[in-house]
Amino acid sequence: MPKQILPPLTPIISNWIKELVNNPEFLEDVIEEHGSPINMHNALPFRENYKLYQEVFDEFGLDNLVFFARKANKCRSLVLEAKKLGMGIDTASYRELKEALEAGLDSKKLVVTAAVKERKLIELAVKNEVLIILDNEDECKLTQQVAEKLNIQAQIGLRISGFNYRGAKLYSRFGFDIDGVFNFIIKNVGKHKAFNSLNYQGLHFHLNGYSTEQRGEACIQSFELAMQLKTKGFETQFLDIGGGFLMNYLSDKNEWESFKETLQLAVKQKVSPITFQNDGLGYQVINDELHGELKTYPYFNEKPKGLFLREILSYKNKNSNTVAELAKKLNIQIRMEPGRSMLDQVGYTMAKVVFRKKDSQNNWLVGLEMNFTQMHSSSADYLMDPIVLFKDSESKQEQCDVFFTGAYCLERDILLKRKIALKQLPQIGDLVIFPNTAGYMMHFFESEAHLFDLAANVWFETGGSKTSSKFVHDDEFNTNTY
Ligand SMILES: *Cc1c(COP(=O)(O)O)cnc(C)c1O
Repeated sequence: MPKQILPPLTPIISNWIKELVNNPEFLEDVIEEHGSPINMHNALPFRENYKLYQEVFDEFGLDNLVFFARKANKCRSLVLEAKKLGMGIDTASYRELKEALEAGLDSKKLVVTAAVKERKLIELAVKNEVLIILDNEDECKLTQQVAEKLNIQAQIGLRISGFNYRGAKLYSRFGFDIDGVFNFIIKNVGKHKAFNSLNYQGLHFHLNGYSTEQRGEACIQSFELAMQLKTKGFETQFLDIGGGFLMNYLSDKNEWESFKETLQLAVKQKVSPITFQNDGLGYQVINDELHGELKTYPYFNEKPKGLFLREILSYKNKNSNTVAELAKKLNIQIRMEPGRSMLDQVGYTMAKVVFRKKDSQNNWLVGLEMNFTQMHSSSADYLMDPIVLFKDSESKQEQCDVFFTGAYCLERDILLKRKIALKQLPQIGDLVIFPNTAGYMMHFFESEAHLFDLAANVWFETGGSKTSSKFVHDDEFNTNTY
């Protein structure tokens, strides 16, 4: 089997991290102070991402409200940043809502979309007149009970699913089915009805996957529902189109294509493996034939963020009216809840090399002081080349292919399933940076097994001169300082 040259996947890197990479002493200091691994953040890209979405809405002349989906990153600083920008926050738990209220966000700029809403959460929302997106009849009942008891009208929207798309329904475990929800609302919601303490405000959906067409179609069908509801006196003030806005992690389409081709060849055993134990990341060979598909996030894509939103807003119904035109005509505000894409370029994970060894299959394993839950993609793998800061790059360089391994006592604690080609073998104490991890990858799966501490979250703030640049721990962001 020919030895395969490992295909690179070059990440897009933001300027703030380039600046840091050029000042390794600064990075040494911060990891010395806060431990390994460390999550480094910068707020500028967050502001830029928000601006990008605003520009698209402005271009279409649309009334809008963008909520940052907090669950994608735990940092408190982002709540304060959203507040400064005038954005909303999509909260998915009691604590997320409580922190946002404590930070002084206007309750009109908050929404509760939690998949499970306990009484305590509903009480907090109703007391503060925060919009609750209801998912099912039991939630309606509980919200009605709470609102009645508090003698406050609960502000509610309904999550809709089961949109008809190309002759089939889009399945979701969440929400009310589009086909039955009209009858449900007119039968139950409003004066003299079972849910007389629920005040209907609008509609919401959040679709799985990354299809702009499906989202466009869901908008059209939601507008039709809104028109029907209007005939019965229910005024739809907003349509919230959820999250799932694509972001692009990789700089080169050819690299992406060539990676996929090489992975397929490796799985077919035509070339040597490029992943740990020849993991197909979704591809597999059955009876000499390749099956399956790549089960990772589409790390490279050509329509991220603003372009993705623009496609949804430009989607046309049968009469060639676009989503944007219909929203204006019906006087419906478009809302969205981006999580991951708001965090594009906001954060990087960095860890220290602890050991190097050769396994029995002659692979180099580079042990890092971190574990796989601290940099974990919900998809089959994180597909970007890390940046290694070699302390000693003067020594004789010899190209070296390695796997990065983690600190948990599990065979599966391989930080990247891809084998990574490096210009030389890292040394103990070298720093390894994993780019663009702020959206989901640093926090969503992190655990404290072995009683390892969770990684510290720090914010890089650039000053006028290099010496006045500094890192601030996320805990130090005080809600009173804004
Ligand atoms: C997770 C989630 C989001 C955010 O999705 P992203 O893919 O991070 O943009 C928004 N709304 C709801 C209801 C969600 O569950």
